[in-house]
Amino acid sequence: MPGISNLALRDVAMKPFWLDRPDAPLALPPLEEDSKADLLVVGGGFTGLWGAIQSRQAHPERDVILIEKDEVATGASGRPGGVVSTSVMHGLSNALRIFPRDIAELERLGKENIAGMMATIEQFGIDCHAEWGGELTVAIDSAHIEALRQEHQLHLRYGHNSVFLDEAAVQAEIRSPRYKAAVWSKDASGTVHPALLAWGLKRAAIELGVRVFEHTELVSLIDQGDRITAMTGRGSVTSPRVLLATNAFVAGHKHIKHRVVPVRDRVLATEPLTPSQMDSIGWKHRQGVYDTRTQMNYMRLTRDNRIIFGGRLAYSFCGTPFPAVDRDTATYAPLAQAFFETFPQLEGVRFANAWSGPIDLTTRMAVHFQRYHGDKVVYAGGYSGFGVSASRFGARIALDILDGSQAPESRLEFATTMPTRVPPEPFRWLGAQITMYALDTADRQGGWRRPWLKAISAMGFPLN
Ligand SMILES: Cc1cc2nc3c(=O)[nH]c(=O)nc-3n(C[C@H](O)[C@H](O)[C@H](O)COP(=O)(O)OP(=O)(O)OC[C@H]3O[C@@H](n4cnc5c(N)ncnc54)[C@H](O)[C@@H]3O)c2cc1C
Repeated sequence: MPGISNLALRDVAMKPFWLDRPDAPLALPPLEEDSKADLLVVGGGFTGLWGAIQSRQAHPERDVILIEKDEVATGASGRPGGVVSTSVMHGLSNALRIFPRDIAELERLGKENIAGMMATIEQFGIDCHAEWGGELTVAIDSAHIEALRQEHQLHLRYGHNSVFLDEAAVQAEIRSPRYKAAVWSKDASGTVHPALLAWGLKRAAIELGVRVFEHTELVSLIDQGDRITAMTGRGSVTSPRVLLATNAFVAGHKHIKHRVVPVRDRVLATEPLTPSQMDSIGWKHRQGVYDTRTQMNYMRLTRDNRIIFGGRLAYSFCGTPFPAVDRDTATYAPLAQAFFETFPQLEGVRFANAWSGPIDLTTRMAVHFQRYHGDKVVYAGGYSGFGVSASRFGARIALDILDGSQAPESRLEFATTMPTRVPPEPFRWLGAQITMYALDTADRQGGWRRPWLKAISAMGFPLN
């Protein structure tokens, strides 16, 4: 198997498949003057773009500026698996774990969010290759089947259009010797091309009148009493409201990182599969797929029938977002091996792209809001690898907080409380290394790894 994986990685390009396109939009010029706005959005990923768009949709009279230190979608939003979920809280089980009292309302908000996302995609004619085949959670071990049955019961209790698939039924959907059972949630969920979505949202924001500046980094915030002046390299923006949509870059305020651990996740994209290779795996409904392994894998198809296969969490000292190790082909060999264990019938398929991306991990595994400078500055993040659709919701609640809105949802527990603080360096790095090693080896070797993962779970990270 290692030989097969290494061969498959031989000519891999170390860049995100999604961003590797000739039709990528040109970068907009940087901000080079002192400017004023009614809202400043920092970060050109999904959270920032949705924040700018929803602000203009709700208040067309407001002047909105969005600044991005690099280019739109070069952060996590141009790098994900692109599996879209109706949940705004990292799945129903996670929502139940963190906010059991508000679960019905969170479910309603999730449905409302996805409907709003679809409406904007349609309104602005964004061709982001959306496919609504649903989400499939697959058990890769017989010991996980009972938990999956319980998950299915939960789906039914909250009115999801969800079916339980036994081994024969899951094999009829997707042929993998690893798959023992599955839950298929058929609600409005599936997959998108994330970069096309982000670039389409950039265009929509501009059409709505948002002023977008790329290659413009927020350097510092100065509190002027009733407003904030944001200093960038060659200019500034003064505004009464600032939305920090800086995800795992934890930028904008030095305290963000106390609760957000910037980990990374790794992804591979195959070359397009041939019709006979497609026949060998089935996957006619083209769902987004997650498995139940401790170090989880997720996968989906692209419009031209590549498989996107992700899931190897890693952490570097101080949370460096793009370390050199992630540009080394050898780093992706274990992920390639997991791919061929999942689809041995695809032996001989080559990987075209490999990349990693930053994930804003918190103990809640879902969006939270950090408020600074008397609520004039709000950070929205912490999606923990589940933010393609939840980012729209996170941005909307952040705007409510910035406006001092009394809307019922911005008074729910998720909007008013915070995830647990995480120990600083060097304890953070040490704990992360042990945890990543335990995650990698727990399924095969057990031993001390299970109690360790239990202890980390007791801190709030739901790892086992
Ligand atoms: C490998 C991977 C796989 C994933 N798979 C999925 C999936 O299948 N489904 C799903 O729902 N979610 C997935 N996610 C999560 C999802 O991609 C993110 O939750 C979402 O994109 C977050 O959007 P964001 O705008 O908050 O962050 P980002 O897209 O990271 O945007 C933050 C932006 O802020 C900018 N920035 C940082 N500092 C500054 C500064 N000082 N000044 C100006 N700009 C700044 C950055 O350059 C960046 O562009 C995945 C993430 C990764 C990395």
